[in-house]
Amino acid sequence: MLCEMCGEDVPATTAVRVESSVLQLCPSCSKFGVAVAPPVLPAGSAPPPPRDGTRITPRAARSVAERDLYTEMPDMELAPDWGRRIRVAREALLWTPEELGKRLNEKKSVVLKLESGSFRPPDGTIRKVERLLHIRLRADPEPRT
Ligand SMILES: [Zn+2]
Repeated sequence: MLCEMCGEDVPATTAVRVESSVLQLCPSCSKFGVAVAPPVLPAGSAPPPPRDGTRITPRAARSVAERDLYTEMPDMELAPDWGRRIRVAREALLWTPEELGKRLNEKKSVVLKLESGSFRPPDGTIRKVERLLHIRLRADPEPRT
């Protein structure tokens, strides 16, 4: 077998981690890195993962609690032209709908729906949009005279 560091042909090489890569090295080169444990065979030897179901339950319970909390909160009142404000601000930044969607963790189609005003996003998304685009989507709290 050829050593991947010095190229010498040796009877056996060792898997050695050198910085971020694993190389097959001869005994004299293997001291430059840290020996890697031999790969664990997937069949038979490994104990089965616990099957008590506790992995799923806490997360599900929490997301339900969050949703309940969420529906109890009153929706923020948005400016009548909030969708247009998103589009104008996005275009001013020269962002594509895809780009804004990526930053919001949403699909492009969601962004387009927001901009057309056909989808009223959750308040959390409103805040994210406001922060990203440096705009205000909420209705002005002060009454105009
Ligand atoms: Zn070597």
